[in-house]
Amino acid sequence: MYRNFKKKHPGKALKGMLWSTIRSSTIEMYKKAAKDLKEYDSEAYKWIEKAPRPMHWCKAYFSPHTKCVMIVNNLCEPFNSHILEARDEPIISLLQKARELMMERIQKRKAAMTRYPHSTGPLIRKIIEDRIEESFQWFPQFNGIDGYQVKCPTNSQFAVNLKKKSYTCRIWELSGLPCTHAIAAIKQTENDPHEMIAEFHYKRLFLQVYNNVLKPISSQLLWPESSTLQLDLPMSTVQPGRPKKARK
Ligand SMILES: [Zn+2]
Repeated sequence: MYRNFKKKHPGKALKGMLWSTIRSSTIEMYKKAAKDLKEYDSEAYKWIEKAPRPMHWCKAYFSPHTKCVMIVNNLCEPFNSHILEARDEPIISLLQKARELMMERIQKRKAAMTRYPHSTGPLIRKIIEDRIEESFQWFPQFNGIDGYQVKCPTNSQFAVNLKKKSYTCRIWELSGLPCTHAIAAIKQTENDPHEMIAEFHYKRLFLQVYNNVLKPISSQLLWPESSTLQLDLPMSTVQPGRPKKARK
């Protein structure tokens, strides 16, 4: 999205403002960020208005069901580079190679995570550690039962309810990980922020997923013979615009 945006609206300031709208975790924050952009550059704001609806690219509109706040992913690029060797093979060989690569990858990731000594993965631990560090800038005020009002010196303020696990910035709801404000409140209790995360982020669930391994298969010699009509090989032609194997 930014690549298209910057063709007409380049510059560091606009880039920051566009990202602020994208990263807004509540609709109110999104509206404020969009208003700031409109005041700074009305043409850039018009571009956003014409873009697909924010439910497709702004965190504020994401469902809390998936516990994922990824707004950029480069899944296609690693996948393509991973299957690079196999890409110009005929379909069956390509699938066989892709299958072997997946088998190896699943095994390696499962083995590495089994050895990992903590109950959550390294990335999740790093996020929580960073937020614990940041949480020193936030000051929680307890209401005596279940709520905290969490403030920072720049006058930002969020309401946190640890029992209901509700935080007005919505980061916990969306990601399943306590936000910096929630951590500031959690630190006032006996709880460990590393243990206040959604089930999805625990190592036990990761290993459960990676227990679904690919089954080994024998060579074609041992495959059962098919009684259906044998197909002739297709005519081989070089396709126009075929993706190049050599990469920069
Ligand atoms: Zn928060």
